[in-house]
Amino acid sequence: MDNSYMPITELCNPFLIRTCALIGGEWCESDSKKYFPVINPATGELLTNVADAGVEEARRAIVAAAQAQSNWMQKPVQERSRLLHAWHALVLKHSDDLALILTLEQGKPLTEARAEIAYGASYIEWFAEEAKRIYGDIIAPQHPDQRIMVIKQPVGVVAAITPWNFPNAMLARKLAPALAAGCAVVAKPAAETPLSALALAWLAEEAGIPAGVINIVPSTDASAIGIEFSSNKLVRKLSFTGSTRVGKILIQQCAEDVKRITLELGGNAPFIVFEDADLDAAVAGAMASKFRNAGQTCVCANRFYIHRNIQSVFCAKLIQAMQSLTIGNGVASETKIGPLISRSAVKKVQSLVDDALKKGARITYQADLDKTLLAIGSYYPPTVLNNIADDSLLLTQEIFGPVVAILPFDSDEEVAKLANDTDYGLAAYCFTRDSKRIKKMSEILATGMLGINTGTISNAMAPFGGVKHSGWGREGSHYGIADYLEIKYICEQI
Ligand code: ADP
Repeated sequence: MDNSYMPITELCNPFLIRTCALIGGEWCESDSKKYFPVINPATGELLTNVADAGVEEARRAIVAAAQAQSNWMQKPVQERSRLLHAWHALVLKHSDDLALILTLEQGKPLTEARAEIAYGASYIEWFAEEAKRIYGDIIAPQHPDQRIMVIKQPVGVVAAITPWNFPNAMLARKLAPALAAGCAVVAKPAAETPLSALALAWLAEEAGIPAGVINIVPSTDASAIGIEFSSNKLVRKLSFTGSTRVGKILIQQCAEDVKRITLELGGNAPFIVFEDADLDAAVAGAMASKFRNAGQTCVCANRFYIHRNIQSVFCAKLIQAMQSLTIGNGVASETKIGPLISRSAVKKVQSLVDDALKKGARITYQADLDKTLLAIGSYYPPTVLNNIADDSLLLTQEIFGPVVAILPFDSDEEVAKLANDTDYGLAAYCFTRDSKRIKKMSEILATGMLGINTGTISNAMAPFGGVKHSGWGREGSHYGIADYLEIKYICEQI
């Protein structure tokens, strides 16, 4: 296919733009010769077309992974570690181009895209080291003539499905521990953002990671690929990041083959500011948590519970900070808020805001949007809502846009109850200077992750994941590799 018209190749090192599936070390067009468009959400322009893989290609990729797996798991860990380090170095070397690709297909500002590339790379580096620290146990036996040994082995071929909001880091966070543990992977990136995944896989290949250890099947037929990943017996584990709706489908599909599954699903994070909080720190935390990626992160603050006595001061300070959020194309250096991923994402945010307004909410701030931006891209203005009714949909659904929903509270007990009154439990944030309150909130908030006096919690050393409908398992940290290992107990009669 002639891709010479692509504007993207003029902007990036052209070799990083891969438009085919990667199966067993071969870059393949789809069997059907079908392609799907990758659109720049900032401009509505076509970036390129990518091979649209189907079930047959997914099946071949799984077989290729299974073939690569046996050699890969037998490589000395030092060698797997060395290859992961080499990959990490290449990702850093090409980070400017990877960031540009990310901004072009996803929309986030370049500074955020650079931060995502560094964040994704940090998982590769972390797990390059963790590969060397997969320990078993020798356990004191019941009888003196027995030896009880526990060894850890790779779970087998891993299937990964990743979302569009962090197309580099979410994949790196799955590939790196899987490879470190000795697993081969077949991955399906989101159809909105396949280029970041393909570029990452190409760099892995350049780093010397053997053919078939990483396979990528870009596809618009997510449900068919999901069924193949869940039902194919060669796949022993599925790792998914995305919506709770799809997570539940995958749990059901994986039940038949009793496949291990890690799920990082939706959130509905409460952001609690107590009366004694440092308000400037709380506003800085709110800006970081709410507006990263234009509000399209699963750990975004979704419900802002602000103590009634400080609500007006907090809102005034927040609105002042929000006035510095320049909205525009992510490639412009002054941009702080890029477009949402698509026009349908804008419609969904608008429908949540309309629902809240219908039930009595008031808009206390909304940024002006340049009409020319609105005409070409999928932008939504940063907005603050007050006076929100309890039955408003944005209190139970992820807003996934730059909308701040402010709610008052009077007591610690009340706010803890409100914060926990959700099916989700991914992230929560508290701002207070009271150490007793910190201890109490740390214990009673039903969440996988809690930020105290900070709005930024994600890093490779820490276990990322949720409770309740926010998922199963943890990614990152020393816990992150455990999901890719089986425990085998051996009882030896001496
Ligand atoms: P979002 O609403 O953020 O797009 P999704 O859960 O729909 O979240 O998408 C996350 C990932 O799951 C994407 O790669 C998408 O293509 C994939 N996906 C969507 N539907 C299914 C499905 N039925 N089975 C497997 N994967 C799916």
